[in-house]
Amino acid sequence: MENTNEMQLIFDSRSSNESFARVTVAAFMTSLNPTVEEVSDVKTAVSEAVTNAIIHGYESEVHNIYIRCRTEGKTLFLEIEDKGKGIPDVKKAMEPLFTTKPELDRSGMGFSFMEAFMDHLDVVSEPGKGTTVKMEKTIGKGRKVWTTQSL
Ligand code: ATP
Ligand code: MG
Repeated sequence: MENTNEMQLIFDSRSSNESFARVTVAAFMTSLNPTVEEVSDVKTAVSEAVTNAIIHGYESEVHNIYIRCRTEGKTLFLEIEDKGKGIPDVKKAMEPLFTTKPELDRSGMGFSFMEAFMDHLDVVSEPGKGTTVKMEKTIGKGRKVWTTQSL
């Protein structure tokens, strides 16, 4: 389709790859002309989802993390997948402050941040199979456009 663009990334679930993943998605979305704040929102969301895949999905074993990115018009669609242990109760996991790893100083705010910084968040998970976090953000919403008429 015209006006669309796609990118996929597969990388090892090492915490040293987290910054690389978020910068790659940020670079991919520059064609949408995002503001610094919009890029920062997406980077935060990617960072939270990738960190979850590493520490919860794979519990620090090294396996593949899959990122699929698509732009359609001004909207960025993102999927971040692990084939790790999965989430038994997604609704509960998404509640603010819910964490299964308080001993690792986790605050249980990852999903809340993804929800706050993106326009849509959908989590599909099956215990023993893995987790896919789907997110969407439309770039340029509410940006003020100045014309001579607004002067
Ligand atoms: P924080 O993100 O604030 O450091 P957290 O990771 O525990 O803490 P969330 O990111 O909101 O908080 O995730 C909530 C819970 O959902 C996690 O504690 C974990 O039990 C579960 N979870 C999240 N992502 C995954 C995943 N990819 N695989 C398995 N479980 C997950
Ligand atoms: Mg988290």
